[in-house]
Amino acid sequence: METDYLTLDSMGKRVLMTGNGAVARGAIEAGVKVATSYPGTPASEILSSIAAVAKKVGIYAEWSINEKVAFEVAFAASLSGIRALMACKHLGFNWISDAFLVSAYTGVNGGLVVVVSDDPHPHSSQNAEDTRYYSKMGKVPCLEPSDPDEARKIIPMAFDLSESLQLPIVVRLTSRISHSRGDVELGEMRRKDREPKFEKDPKRYAVIAPHARERHLWLNNQYAKAAEAMESFPLNWIEGPRGDFGIIANGLNYSYVKEALGILGIEAPILKLSSANPIPKRLVANFLRGLKECLVVEEIEPITEEGVKAIAQAEGIPVKVYGRSTGHIPLQWELNPDIVAGAISKIAGLGNPRPGLLAKPKAVQLEIGRRTPFLCAGCPHRASYYSIKQALRRINKGGIIAGDRGCYNQGIYPPLNGYDTCICMGASIGMACGFYKAGVKEPIVAVIGESTFFHAGIPPLINAVHNNANITVVIFDNSWTSMTGFQPNPATGMNAMGEETRRLNVEEICKACGVEFVKVVDSFKVGELIEAIESAIKFPGPAVVVSRHECAVREMGRLRRRGERPRPYAVDPTRCTACKICLSQFGCPAISIEDGKISIDKYSCTGCGVCAQICPSKAIAQVEV
Ligand code: SF4
Ligand code: SF4
Repeated sequence: METDYLTLDSMGKRVLMTGNGAVARGAIEAGVKVATSYPGTPASEILSSIAAVAKKVGIYAEWSINEKVAFEVAFAASLSGIRALMACKHLGFNWISDAFLVSAYTGVNGGLVVVVSDDPHPHSSQNAEDTRYYSKMGKVPCLEPSDPDEARKIIPMAFDLSESLQLPIVVRLTSRISHSRGDVELGEMRRKDREPKFEKDPKRYAVIAPHARERHLWLNNQYAKAAEAMESFPLNWIEGPRGDFGIIANGLNYSYVKEALGILGIEAPILKLSSANPIPKRLVANFLRGLKECLVVEEIEPITEEGVKAIAQAEGIPVKVYGRSTGHIPLQWELNPDIVAGAISKIAGLGNPRPGLLAKPKAVQLEIGRRTPFLCAGCPHRASYYSIKQALRRINKGGIIAGDRGCYNQGIYPPLNGYDTCICMGASIGMACGFYKAGVKEPIVAVIGESTFFHAGIPPLINAVHNNANITVVIFDNSWTSMTGFQPNPATGMNAMGEETRRLNVEEICKACGVEFVKVVDSFKVGELIEAIESAIKFPGPAVVVSRHECAVREMGRLRRRGERPRPYAVDPTRCTACKICLSQFGCPAISIEDGKISIDKYSCTGCGVCAQICPSKAIAQVEV
């Protein structure tokens, strides 16, 4: 198991690990003492890996309520002289940006490494942003590993660099590095047993404007030192024969380039860069000299390409530089060896010297049935969406449903068509306020999961109360951050390390925020839930309904571990009128239709009983296992 390798004191042993697991291993080797995160694919497994062994190796691991808090916890630990790591996905970096950009002014003491995983495609995100921009904006060095082995190696290097420069360091992964497995050589366990101590220095740590002016000067000096350090960074190198055409590849793209050259059966000079920012100017200039053409391979934006062009111009090197901005590499989506081979072939004028090698393998060309994501059988969110729709139907004045980020996003698909907008963490309530204040006359409902509510839903709810927005907020409380792998949150009553903690009730928080109408209903009591939502919509002012039922996957997992099975439901064909309401308005995946006959798959059915409640003919009933 990957977890076993995290603490294995066997330097030099080669094991198979994911990129995220390798980062966790690197952090443990580097002697990290505090690790924090908020779950977000593709970065979630970094903290869950560390948390799994945290007590064993003396690390404090925390799922914070959002990325900004996670960063601040890690940052303060670093100011106290110990090593700290914070992990997030690219969108989480937006949340930390405020504190992160100022942390470059204070600098750090114990090494502080922020590991971010970008999602270039994007596979599981609402956009594909390039976190290297934050690194440039903050004048904070950014390193990029090219495979899981380098992901392990680069983390201790990043901690050492952070302490020598007194700056936080960003380590940028992409989804392919995070989730691919590779051969990883274990390094030395370098436990750092330091006594945490915060030495007061208001001129440094209290960044008011006069102090900021001083610290800006300091940061510029440190950034110049960082640029110098990158000239000899050991994971940057030049390889291959000399020639007219060269390739510069960042991070994972180095692996793509190597594979692409293998596909084409050629060799070319390569500058492999694992320092994304600052760009090592002398190293790049040395590589460019003598080249006529150079392809820059990077994901997501042409940041290195622009840097390379600027260096060529400043140094008077007559080389044509190609990349994402010139259209030689597509400007969107993630790369792969085929795309890179096509670009190299085109620029180098090779045509396709080995026809067929660039063609996709046959298996990939096969037509594969497309499956849309869906809410699981017995998912309480399905009942919540169904109830909102029914309540809006009863009121019969239309309705706008502002959605949020979480596993309940799968409710967008038919037949639920559960929400009309979905932007970013916490946006549901803020946007619902906006629709109301814009004068929209329809009922306005915001839906938000409890984890997202803790992350970013509380300030907009206070805003709704403060500005008297007549909106209804339905909080889908299933007690877990399910989308990203069932991480605990304040509603779970457990922390990242499995310790029992005080369970926070979202309804109490809503009342404390000043909401006068707050009702809690079991998501599976559909009649009650519809009533509560209808009353909330009719309430003149902000109103909250907490639709609460534990995530079906967690509930079923517990049953299975006890050797039990849920009692499933079945359709009585003598009663069923084939009205299809259970399919067309509810759509539990355990229910299907064949030759006009509705049936329930007893192995998928979790026995939630909601379909029995909505069937107008009372044709669905619980049966023995
Ligand atoms: S809702 Fe009831 S009556 Fe209608 S199709 Fe489903 S099982 Fe049959
Ligand atoms: S009881 Fe009905 S709604 Fe619940 S899981 Fe079974 S088939 Fe689906």
